[in-house]
Amino acid sequence: MEKPFNKTSRMKQLKTIRYTGMGIFLLGLLIFTITPFLGEIQVTDEIINANLSENEYANLKEPLAEISKQTYNTGAGFGSDFKRVFNEVNERLKANEEWGKVMWTPSSDTALKLVMSANKGVVASNQLLFFLLTFGLCILGSLVYILTDLKIKGPPGIKNDGIYHDSATNRGWVGMLAFGWLFFFYIILYFYPYIIADTITLTQPIKSWFVEDEVPSKWFLYGLMYTVTMLVMGVRMIIKYRHNKYQIVRTITVVLFQLIFAFLLVEILPTFGLPGKDLKNAWPLDYQFLFDWNVQDLLANGQFGKFVFVWGISLSVIVVPVMVYFYGKRWYCSWVCGCGGLAETLGDPYRQLSSKKMWSWKLERWMIHLVLVFAVLMTVFVGYHTWNVFQNPEMENKEILFGFSAYDIRNYYSFLIGSVFAGVIGTGFYPILGNRAWCRFGCPLAAYMGIVQRFKSRFRITTNGGQCISCGNCSTYCEQGIDVRAYAQKGQNIVRASCVGCGVCSAVCPRGVLKLENGPEDGRFGNEGPIVLGNQGFELKDN
Ligand code: SF4
Ligand code: SF4
Repeated sequence: MEKPFNKTSRMKQLKTIRYTGMGIFLLGLLIFTITPFLGEIQVTDEIINANLSENEYANLKEPLAEISKQTYNTGAGFGSDFKRVFNEVNERLKANEEWGKVMWTPSSDTALKLVMSANKGVVASNQLLFFLLTFGLCILGSLVYILTDLKIKGPPGIKNDGIYHDSATNRGWVGMLAFGWLFFFYIILYFYPYIIADTITLTQPIKSWFVEDEVPSKWFLYGLMYTVTMLVMGVRMIIKYRHNKYQIVRTITVVLFQLIFAFLLVEILPTFGLPGKDLKNAWPLDYQFLFDWNVQDLLANGQFGKFVFVWGISLSVIVVPVMVYFYGKRWYCSWVCGCGGLAETLGDPYRQLSSKKMWSWKLERWMIHLVLVFAVLMTVFVGYHTWNVFQNPEMENKEILFGFSAYDIRNYYSFLIGSVFAGVIGTGFYPILGNRAWCRFGCPLAAYMGIVQRFKSRFRITTNGGQCISCGNCSTYCEQGIDVRAYAQKGQNIVRASCVGCGVCSAVCPRGVLKLENGPEDGRFGNEGPIVLGNQGFELKDN
């Protein structure tokens, strides 16, 4: 038998290793965070000429002369000067109604291109080293921290692990720091990417695996971070839920979908001259599907492009509803989708923060369906515009339909829903709103699948009420804010539009009360009919 002394000292060693892992991760994160301050940017006339269109170059050559004499240490410094000049010129052109000369490409994108080409700082000169010092250290540190859990947290199974006493997971100061980092990262990524030009540059060694010397874009940095995060946090998820086969298989599947379809194929297909599309991204989540440039791109890319176009339509119109009928929306939200995959891996420590209040159920129903209506209307406008572009390729972008500009509507949707809601709020707010705020309140595809799941599906979670000890684990860990315990106490089946079938309620139940099942539609609500949100709150509705 092992002596207690040895056991204690081994635990101390493990904890030391664990905190060393945390230290390594934080060091990598710190270096990642300061990379934008290590630039050396001097934009010459040749660089401006090489990166700008003929029209942009003609407009900006002289006004940029002053800026190109200066050396900047940060992309932020260059970008703000560049945008000032760019906007002054553009405003003048608009005031003079010289529409042919107006520059429509966003100034942030043009500033990023220039900084990427002109940067000669320490990061740009040592890309591989900085890749290892950032991505490498973060991956190593996280894995060390996560793997020690195997020993420190003891045998498999969910325990009361103090999530509400830990400032990282109870909206305490560590959680607020994580929120601040994520929030600012998303704001910069979407709206001021030139600030992180050095950070984008350090992914060049990986980008070169796919296309040698092609400059990585901000979306390559994001895709790489996203995929690596899911892989590392997927290991954590598997270790945490290793007592539950459903969680192990589901986690491996969703991580592989991200790695293969959302990252590798998107990078590899263009090397064969094919469109780099994420084939699992279904409308209306893929709100750009009917944008004129996307349709033109697909139809101009031979048989494969046409296949992707037809597949995109079939996926949304046939595959999605049929699969939801048989398996519920879990097949997509918890097994395939990248947003769901990040929520289930990176977001898992925050799942208990989703509100279970009645008002949040009411809010969720209004918000998600309004976003769906917005997505449908936007698509009608954009589809009509795209159709007209095919009839008349010279068509003006500013086409008006029923008094609205299709171009403006798509820009509003892209900004409000695509960037602010799905990106900044959807992921940035994990440490505050829980891990599925986007899926629960904003995703139009989840709303569409939710309607099918609620009214025409074989999926339900059955509850063996007699076994329930009302511990509340299931409700605590439900990321969609469903009060699972209330159903279990009544012995009612759970049939809710918002349930993403993650199965964690079932995995954390100590009594095996909850089972995710697909069965005949008849009787899926159980004996007493569905539980609905009535005027008085949570109530039973007769079958
Ligand atoms: S009810 Fe269960 S399966 Fe559905 S979302 Fe909540 S935790 Fe996941
Ligand atoms: S269903 Fe399971 S986890 Fe939920 S309250 Fe009952 S015993 Fe606890």
